[in-house]
Amino acid sequence: MSPSHLTDEYSMTPKAFSSLHLKIHMLKNLASLGYAEMTPIQAHSLPLILAGKDVIAKAKTGSGKTAAFGIGLLSHLDATSSRVQALVLCPTRELADQVGKELRRLARFTDNIKVLTLCGGVPFGPQLGSLEHGAHIVVGTPGRILDHLRRGSLDLTCLQTLVLDEADRMLDMGFQDEISALIDATPKKKQTLLFSATYPEAIAAMSATIQHEPVAVSVDEVH
Ligand code: ADP
Ligand code: MG
Repeated sequence: MSPSHLTDEYSMTPKAFSSLHLKIHMLKNLASLGYAEMTPIQAHSLPLILAGKDVIAKAKTGSGKTAAFGIGLLSHLDATSSRVQALVLCPTRELADQVGKELRRLARFTDNIKVLTLCGGVPFGPQLGSLEHGAHIVVGTPGRILDHLRRGSLDLTCLQTLVLDEADRMLDMGFQDEISALIDATPKKKQTLLFSATYPEAIAAMSATIQHEPVAVSVDEVH
């Protein structure tokens, strides 16, 4: 697909968040955050994500990928259940902390959505305590999430959405086996979203293994 084709396609894509079927408090929150309109990756991926599709999205750093999957998974949450319904895997603790913060901002007018960040390099004790209180969304690094699963402190049997953020970096860092083991502990029927800044062969292969009829979205050429 040529860059000009992508630009044309984007110019015809509705960019107002109000063109999506979002809850009114989410629309108000987005406005209060200063998100006047969708970024290109959001405009292309959010309608697909909200429709429940498996999406593989490629866009450069700073293009608003967190809100693309964040708004999607928050729209699908059942706040009345305290089971973990969404899991976001990130390559590093810093990135997991950033994603956790952005999800909490996006969820702030939504009733009591709990976002828990679970990363390595910190003691287990406080994480175990937090997990006992329940969480709707878990964000973390693959190694620590897998540790919790193996200890029985994390249950992913009600997972509805799995997000692999910066999937290319996670593969570069050698997390392939941890990610596969994690996915084995999740229900087969779920939405899997793969976000990446690049689209190497390894990402295509991973998508083919873990996603169901994925729709690819790439907006790198659009500014
Ligand atoms: P990426 O994951 O693609 O690197 P981020 O999700 O970290 O990008 O977003 C980059 C910045 O853009 C963040 O500061 C975020 O708050 C901001 N942002 C996201 N979506 C929008 C939007 N629709 N309008 C304005 N700012 C946005
Ligand atoms: Mg990001």
